[in-house]
Amino acid sequence: MDFNFSEEQNMLRDTVRNFVDKEIMPHIAEWDRVGKFDPSIMKRLADLGLMGVCIPEEYGGSGMDYNSLAIVCEELERGDTAFRTAVSVHTGLNSMTLLQWGTEEQKQKYLVPQAKGEKVGAYGLTEPGAGSDVASIQSTAVKDGDHYILNGSKSWISLCDTADHFLVFAYTDKEKRHKGISAFIVERDWKGFDSKATKGKLGIRSGNTGEIFFDHIKVPKENLLGEEGEGFKIAMAALDNGRFTVAAGAVGQIRACLEASVKYAHERETFGKPIGQHQLVQRMIANMKAGLEMSSLLVYRAGELKNAGTRNTEETSMAKWQACDFANKAADDAIQVHGAYGYSDEYPVERYLRNSKAPVIYEGTREIHTIMQAEYALGYRKDKPLNKMLPAWEGDRAKV
Ligand SMILES: Cc1cc2nc3c(=O)[nH]c(=O)nc-3n(C[C@H](O)[C@H](O)[C@H](O)COP(=O)(O)OP(=O)(O)OC[C@H]3O[C@@H](n4cnc5c(N)ncnc54)[C@H](O)[C@@H]3O)c2cc1C
Repeated sequence: MDFNFSEEQNMLRDTVRNFVDKEIMPHIAEWDRVGKFDPSIMKRLADLGLMGVCIPEEYGGSGMDYNSLAIVCEELERGDTAFRTAVSVHTGLNSMTLLQWGTEEQKQKYLVPQAKGEKVGAYGLTEPGAGSDVASIQSTAVKDGDHYILNGSKSWISLCDTADHFLVFAYTDKEKRHKGISAFIVERDWKGFDSKATKGKLGIRSGNTGEIFFDHIKVPKENLLGEEGEGFKIAMAALDNGRFTVAAGAVGQIRACLEASVKYAHERETFGKPIGQHQLVQRMIANMKAGLEMSSLLVYRAGELKNAGTRNTEETSMAKWQACDFANKAADDAIQVHGAYGYSDEYPVERYLRNSKAPVIYEGTREIHTIMQAEYALGYRKDKPLNKMLPAWEGDRAKV
């Protein structure tokens, strides 16, 4: 087990950190206040090679290892959850799923432009009546000659107005429940597609989230991902990758809370001394530090399993569950450390608290991960290797 980052990984961290400090930090309070998502950020991330971090170079990506993707997510979320969420859905949920399940033709057509950042991908599983309970989806895809006719709608879809390609899930055979769900690649420009952003969100206000609608969309049969009936398996495999990026982002969120709280604890004085010298304030700061270190270790362990091409659903679920819970608690405590000032947007910590809530809900709620971990412990749940694992990372670790 190697706990050191390579020189290249440290350089990558510096690059993303500088990008966040220059391109996101000066604007984020205003973007958050007015609810503005700036899609040009995606273009600038692409210029830095950050839209296909661990996609192999032969498919237009940067060919870095999975923990390099974690570093990118961590540093982006130190700036704001919206931009890490964008990378999570584009790379974690969509591109890596195409890499894992796509035909060569699908990879060339969709994955390559996505990994280069020329096109943006998103992921549509949730529906108004189906979140945790995936089998309750209502969308249908009915075979009609060379096409499927797709009908239905999806809600809470990140990048709903921005993405070019959507990985969506619909029933091809409702009788078969989970085994009747299939996955499709759908293009925004196709007739019958529409989207609408959701207003009034608690957090991730500088992100783009909303509904997508399918009205008799003709989806060519070549755009079926995997086999008919493999959609549920594909959706869950995608979450193994998405959850990893969410967990890594939460590490960045905890770091942001800790940095802001330490700074403020040195500046603010009560009863004749900096508040950092009061033990109850120290306890909150110590808890943030513990959360940061424990979450980092869980994330990098999952990353190493991914590098080795080993099934990691259990470890990734644990990392996502714990890191997001720690981030939510750290953000709550960060406001407490700031007192009333933390309650206003003069300081960033109130945004951290609002942003930290969605990751406890999406990609498996806190309760779903709790149940999963209990089931692993009790022996009710056992994972077999998937028939299609992501390829083990083939690079030389020292040369990430
Ligand atoms: C900002 C944001 C972005 C999102 N982006 C996307 C996206 O890009 N693509 C996408 O497909 N979805 C996305 N989602 C949706 C997200 O994945 C779902 O909200 C999530 O899966 C939970 O589903 P739900 O909201 O329907 O809650 P429900 O499943 O209805 O759950 C409601 C409550 O009941 C609890 N619960 C449910 N079942 C059980 C059980 N068996 N035991 C105990 N408790 C249970 C849950 O934990 C929760 O507390 C996003 C959500 C948000 C907030």
